[in-house]
Amino acid sequence: MRGINCSVIALLLVVGCFPPTTIDNQLESRPHAVGCAPGACGDSERAITITYLGVSGLLIEHQGHVLLTAPFFSTPSLSMVSPRLSRLFRSWPRISADTGAIEKLLPHSADRATAILVGHGHYDHLMDVPYIATMRATSSKVYGGPSVRHMLMGDSALRANGGQRVVAISEAAAGSREWPGVWYYSSDSAYRFMALTAGHAPTFRAWKQSYTFAAGTLQVDLDSLPHTAAGWKLGEPYAFLIDVLSDPAGEPVFRIYFQDAPSEPPFGFPPSDVLAERAVDVAVLCAATSSNFSATPDSLLVVLRPAYVIVTHWEDFFRSQTRPIQLNRATALGAFRQSLRRALPGSSGWVMPLPQTTFRFRETGRE
Ligand SMILES: [Zn+2]
Repeated sequence: MRGINCSVIALLLVVGCFPPTTIDNQLESRPHAVGCAPGACGDSERAITITYLGVSGLLIEHQGHVLLTAPFFSTPSLSMVSPRLSRLFRSWPRISADTGAIEKLLPHSADRATAILVGHGHYDHLMDVPYIATMRATSSKVYGGPSVRHMLMGDSALRANGGQRVVAISEAAAGSREWPGVWYYSSDSAYRFMALTAGHAPTFRAWKQSYTFAAGTLQVDLDSLPHTAAGWKLGEPYAFLIDVLSDPAGEPVFRIYFQDAPSEPPFGFPPSDVLAERAVDVAVLCAATSSNFSATPDSLLVVLRPAYVIVTHWEDFFRSQTRPIQLNRATALGAFRQSLRRALPGSSGWVMPLPQTTFRFRETGRE
């Protein structure tokens, strides 16, 4: 009961402190600040495209091979992801994947995905994955922490055949600043990725108090998928290094850093040795709640030194992306921009894109 009261108070404070804001100029004004202009990518067949799907969803494509991160389109309203006041905080509304929204908003090319990476288990990162993995990207495997797998085993189709379509990356297999992690390869050998031990910024922080929504891990498989927002537990948060590989040599031709929650430095930092072998081309950073940590994300950017930054999870995800896009109330945009400008090399471009925006990049040979 006490925990539920805290979560209600935290959610109300988040709502009350930040008035909804319509953003008119999400895109940086410099044309093609990120990637190359259409038709100017050299050999277009070898271009890497990254489409921002909204929240932490990305669709990465190279030579017809597709990788997805945390696709999410269901966007239940705030009242659906908090306990009902009318029931004295005792029950959480039932939520589930909005299959109509997924079918409307998930590009057809997602059906070719061979890997779906999920950084943590909150509903806005994982709730749509069972439907997408079983009805659309039917050849994909899902990669996440042990709690992600425990939750997904609540889906009978994913549980079939020993649950081999869901890979639990153990904390021992994740990398850190000091230790390299395990490289996992997609089944088509088009991508390799390494989980990085990360954190998750508090949902709310003020007056030396902080609160993180649905914190905790799971130790056993569920019999059915969670049916409330609070049931989708944070689990073990990871960031990822994602390498796009050449065909057929399997050499990295492009490197992406992906996070779907801000971490307290140095959590989420890649191993120094791995970064020394190849630079990061694009860093995908989560804006929401980033300002709840100091030196975030600038301390990470000083390490990554990416050529480009794509800012994600910045928009209001309590409403459909088919409606006018508004700023997430937990995104302190001014502080985030300042942090970016402090740390990014002058030659780097960054963008905070509208959902469904696609960026194109050349393969890189940078060492
Ligand atoms: Zn989260």
